[in-house]
Amino acid sequence: MCPVCGHSKFTAFASGYDYELETCGNEWHFVRCDDCEHSWLNPRPHESTLSVIYPPHYYAYDYEGRVNRFARMGKRQLDKAKFKGILKHLSRTPKNYLDVGCGSGRYLHHMHSLGLERQSIYGLEIDAAQTARLAEEQFNIINCRIEDADLPENTFDLITMFHVLEHVDDPKVVVEHLFRLLSPGGVLVIETPNIDSLDARLFSNTYWGGYHIPRHWNLFSVDSLRRTLEDSGLQVQAHRFQTGHSFWMYSFHHMLGYGVGWKRMAQLFNPFKGLPFLLGFTALDLVRSKLGFSTSAILMVARKSEPLT
Ligand SMILES: [Zn+2]
Repeated sequence: MCPVCGHSKFTAFASGYDYELETCGNEWHFVRCDDCEHSWLNPRPHESTLSVIYPPHYYAYDYEGRVNRFARMGKRQLDKAKFKGILKHLSRTPKNYLDVGCGSGRYLHHMHSLGLERQSIYGLEIDAAQTARLAEEQFNIINCRIEDADLPENTFDLITMFHVLEHVDDPKVVVEHLFRLLSPGGVLVIETPNIDSLDARLFSNTYWGGYHIPRHWNLFSVDSLRRTLEDSGLQVQAHRFQTGHSFWMYSFHHMLGYGVGWKRMAQLFNPFKGLPFLLGFTALDLVRSKLGFSTSAILMVARKSEPLT
């Protein structure tokens, strides 16, 4: 059944392997809903295998340590621009902030640098090893899944969740939970891969980096993400497209390494090593998003309505 609209008919459209981390040898399949065109991995890895498909060196857990220094500086500038755009949608200065999937806490630090006290900043991250330092720095750190988090309802003025929704079991349950945590008038910002992007279409059979097989379980379009948020009671304010340079890189990496068999050439497209191409794809997506084209990362801003006074 479609996790977004509940429709029972769906069609197979892509399949592939864990090209990125090679944690398992299974072939996995994506299907697409015949009604709303939302896509999901079907079937999925069993819960008992999560520690295999998310090994300790999983990059999201060690971004700061592995990525090139110049790429890290560039990423910081992109983060700054991203938050500037987000904060425009808030009707008041946020009194608190929650980042779901905070990793090593770069967004927590960014909000602190904008003037928010550490005791008003919350980070949720499954892997406790990543957040030990953040807890020492007096940020509020919770180490569990968002569905299990015991956080106060009707509280948060700003919640961000960047590249997490595509990993969760049931996106609707997660968004409904976040809706309850938001304060009246509070804003939820979600960033997730865009199945309708140019690179997703070019590499749609198997090699698209955004598939992130078998760790991405739900792939959204602008329409299916909007529907997920609105069905939970949120009002969508805006959406924009962010750079999807890593997906371009991985798409070429997988195609060259596994499709053509040029393993050494493929390394030039490893986002952690191939700086020239990384810069090139970042520039390409920055220009494309400014011109109104859809890149492979959707950022959507939604608000919880305020009661009438
Ligand atoms: Zn559907």
